[in-house]
Amino acid sequence: MSTPSSSAPGVTPDVTAETTAGAPFSSLPLPPATLANLAQLGYERMTPIQAASLPLALAGKDLIAQAKTGSGKTAAFALPLLANLNPRRFAVQALVLCPTRELAEQVTQELRRLARAEDNIKILSLCGGATMRPQIASLAHGAHIVVGTPGRILDHLSRETLAVDALNTLVLDEADRMLDMGFAEDIASVVKHCPAQRQTLLFSATYPEGVTAMARRFMREPQEVKLTERHDSAKIRQRFYEVTESERLHAVGLLLNHYRPVSTLAFCNTKQQCRDLVAVLQAQGITALELHGDLEQRERDQVLVQFANRSCSVLVATDVAARGLDIAQLEAVINVDITPDVEVHTHRVGRTGRADEAGWAFSLASLDEMGRVGRIDEMQGRESVWHPLSELVPPAGAEPLHAPMVTLQILGGRKEKIRPGDVLGALTKDHGFAAAQIGKINVNEFSTYVAVERGIADQALHKLNAGKVKGKSVKVRRL
Ligand code: AMP
Repeated sequence: MSTPSSSAPGVTPDVTAETTAGAPFSSLPLPPATLANLAQLGYERMTPIQAASLPLALAGKDLIAQAKTGSGKTAAFALPLLANLNPRRFAVQALVLCPTRELAEQVTQELRRLARAEDNIKILSLCGGATMRPQIASLAHGAHIVVGTPGRILDHLSRETLAVDALNTLVLDEADRMLDMGFAEDIASVVKHCPAQRQTLLFSATYPEGVTAMARRFMREPQEVKLTERHDSAKIRQRFYEVTESERLHAVGLLLNHYRPVSTLAFCNTKQQCRDLVAVLQAQGITALELHGDLEQRERDQVLVQFANRSCSVLVATDVAARGLDIAQLEAVINVDITPDVEVHTHRVGRTGRADEAGWAFSLASLDEMGRVGRIDEMQGRESVWHPLSELVPPAGAEPLHAPMVTLQILGGRKEKIRPGDVLGALTKDHGFAAAQIGKINVNEFSTYVAVERGIADQALHKLNAGKVKGKSVKVRRL
């Protein structure tokens, strides 16, 4: 992550602890049960953000930390929050505010994994978009930790269905994104309900003025933790292509058919560009979907399910729409436009090449964008590598790039008590498909999504529609 140009005013000088990254968790003042749980989870060494944040946060300091999804930031606030918790006190002691339901759910899951060291810690997720009544009922049963979106949390506080008098840790996760989404006022109102005596931990990928203002208002001598992001250049191969405006969208198809990545995230600077690109790719027979802010939650879930289960080759998004997405396997990132913000470029490129996988980062630049590329070169401390568009030829005899899988939607989900095993069983035991032909199975409240190999999609659709899942006939359609 690049160093932000300005520090938050009123913030204690930076504390960067990169040198301890990779240190074992046992170097921290954590109880043996927590250390044992971390070992069981396979967390052997601290990630850089954990090494920088945990010693300070476990010492009770307020923290502003620069970190993005995938950096291990959840554990960086979850462990201090759990350390502050008294499991025998049955009251909400920690509140985590997140910009989206997806992130809140990810955070809740990670918290549950980390909280396993203690018996019976109750964690509730309260997000907008869901019906109030079940949330109120769950709150009535009590919880130690609440994770949710600011609007909905405020709603519960105002109705007095949620009380935070016993709170000792407040976490603002992806603070910059919450501000982008217009949550500033709601956050301020939520903070007013919280006791003044508390530890506040703020995580943000960038520090716009709004974030530093929040830090000044809500935090006590916060320590600032930032990390310099260094891409492992051996893992991420960056290539630039010069294009004219009329070539730009077509060039994306050329890149995909030449390099044939299974999953690609394509970034555009505007929503209109996203829409145009999806239309161009779809016309070429490439499965591309757009992720944008106007999608209903259900539609957004469907897009993400299809991308994660490898039945959509390309996800096209603006930076705002793609924030907070945690995608494990991404072979390529394409900068369809060059972003004017060098830091954003670094974030985009850093999406690929995760874990031990290699990744491609392609950038399309017009003559007008060369100034931006110059600034990127300067920041990366090396010259960009240029290749000609003319070298982009698909392998001989290749078909247009197709996603390897197809998603079938079964109308029926958790409400019908369907479990992934029921669907897998129907496809393998009843219909004779090999388990290797079946991909991810996602069971949602009302729907189940199953990825199957493209070659068996029609047959699988037909057989599922004619047969039974969990002893009942089901309706199935191809997405
Ligand atoms: P996050 O950035 O919090 O979304 O975390 C990204 C992923 O890394 C999650 O799946 C965590 O479970 C995992 N993770 C976090 N910390 C560690 C660690 N120290 N060692 C190994 N995995 C980790």
